[in-house]
Amino acid sequence: MKAWVCCLVLLLPFGLGAEQKAHQHGVASATLVIDPQGVEWQMDIPADQLFGFEHAPTTPQQHAVLKAQLEKIQPHLWLVWPDEAQCQLKTAELALEDPSSHHHDYVSRASWQCAEIGPLTQLDIRLFQLTLGLEQLQVQYITPAGQGSATLTPENHRLEF
Ligand SMILES: [Zn+2]
Repeated sequence: MKAWVCCLVLLLPFGLGAEQKAHQHGVASATLVIDPQGVEWQMDIPADQLFGFEHAPTTPQQHAVLKAQLEKIQPHLWLVWPDEAQCQLKTAELALEDPSSHHHDYVSRASWQCAEIGPLTQLDIRLFQLTLGLEQLQVQYITPAGQGSATLTPENHRLEF
C-alpha cells in the first residue's frame, strides 16, 4: 500500500499538469488513477481530432459537427468498466482547455465511484472510431497494483494493468 501512495504523489504533478503536455496532431494523452475510492480519468486531445478544425466554428455545418461530437465523445460513453465493479459515474466533462491558444486542445475528465475495484484490471477504450484521425492514445496509469504507461492505437485499444 505504501509504495503506490508514494508514486501517486510523484505521478500526479506530471500526469495531471495540463500545462506540461505537448500538442501533437493525431495524439491524445491521458492519466488514469484507480484507488479504493474510485476512478479518475483525464485526457487532452487536439480539437483537430474531435472536429476536423481547431478554430471556433464559423459555419452552420461546423457548429453542427461541434455539437454532435461534444455529445458523442463525453468520456463516460466510451470508457466502459466491468459490471462486477459496480462503478457509478460521478462527474464527466469535455471542455475547451485554452481558448487563447492557436492550437485548441480539449480536456476530457470523468470520475466514477466503484463498489469493487478488484475487477478493474482492464479497460476497453472505444474512442478511436469516434474521432477524426486519432492515431495514438498515450496513457499513464496508477492502480493499487502499481503504475505504468501504455500507447494505445486503433488496432490495440485495450488497456491492461
Ligand atoms: Zn493543432
